[in-house]
Amino acid sequence: MAEARDREALSRDEFASAVRESENSHRSEHDHHPHGGYHPAAFRHYVRERALLSALGSMSFASVLDVGCAEGYFMRVIRDRFGAEAWGVDLSDTALKRARELYGFPVAAAEATHLPFADGSFDLVFSTEVIEHVLDAELMIAEMRRVSRGTVLVTTPVSQSADEHEPDFDLKAEGHINNFDPATVRRLFGPEATLGSFRCNATLAMIVAVGRHLPAGMRDAFYDLDHAVSSRWGTPANRIKPLRNRDWLITVPGDGNGEGALEWRCPACHAALAEKPDLLQCTNCTRTYPVESGVPDFFKASTAT
Ligand SMILES: [Zn+2]
Repeated sequence: MAEARDREALSRDEFASAVRESENSHRSEHDHHPHGGYHPAAFRHYVRERALLSALGSMSFASVLDVGCAEGYFMRVIRDRFGAEAWGVDLSDTALKRARELYGFPVAAAEATHLPFADGSFDLVFSTEVIEHVLDAELMIAEMRRVSRGTVLVTTPVSQSADEHEPDFDLKAEGHINNFDPATVRRLFGPEATLGSFRCNATLAMIVAVGRHLPAGMRDAFYDLDHAVSSRWGTPANRIKPLRNRDWLITVPGDGNGEGALEWRCPACHAALAEKPDLLQCTNCTRTYPVESGVPDFFKASTAT
C-alpha cells in the first residue's frame, strides 16, 4: 500500500483503493466517530461536533447526505437531533457495513468525486474532515453542490501556514494532501461561499489539563467552556495561547437542478438503477455494481457483457 504522503502521485483508481485499504485496516470507530462517547484525548473532535451542530441548528433540512460517513456517527447525531433522513457514502466498505449494522442507514461505497445520486437529491450535503484527504477537491465540491438543492457544508483543518497547529502535528503524515489557506478556500468554494472557522483545540491549557481527567458529564461542561472562551476571544488578532488546530466551517449553496428522488443512481451517468440479485445495474450505461450485506459498492463497477 502506498504511504499517505505518496498518494498524490497515484491514479484515481489506485488512490481510492489505497484509501479503502488503509481505512479498512485501521479506522474502526476512531475518535472522529465516537459511537461509545468521546475519549478524553479526543476533545477537539467533540468541539468540532458542537460547532457543526450549532451551524446546522440555523438551517432547515429534511434530507442529508454525509460524504465520508465512516460508521455513520454524524448521520446518527443529525438524525436524532434534527429528524432528518440521513444517507451516507464512504470508501471503506468495512465502516459502511458497520454503519448498516449499528444504525440501518442507507450507505454505499462511493468516491466523494463521483456521487451516486441524481442532481438536487438532498437538502443538505455535508462532509467533515474528508476534503483534505481527496485527490481532486474541486471535483468533490462540484459533486456535493450538484447533488444538493439546498446547502453544502464542509469542515476541514486550516492550513498550517495560516494557523498555529501543534508543532508535532504533521498533517501530511495523517494523509492530508490538501492544505486550505484562505486564498485556496475562496478559490475552490467561490464567491458565494460563507467562510467561517472555529477552534477545535483547547484555548486554556488549564482547562485541558483538568478537563481531560474529569468524568464524561463534567468534562463536557469544561469543553463547552473552552468552546465559549475560544469563540469569544480566539480570533487571530487577539490570541489566547495555546490557540491551535483551527478548522474551516464553509457553507455554499447547492446548485443541483430539480429535485432528485432519494435513491441510488449510477455514479457514472446518474441514470436510474435496476435491482438484480446482489447487484444494481444502470438502466442507461448497463454498468453493474455489487451489493453486499445491503451496501452497494459503486467503486467496484463492472461493464456488462
Ligand atoms: Zn450508468
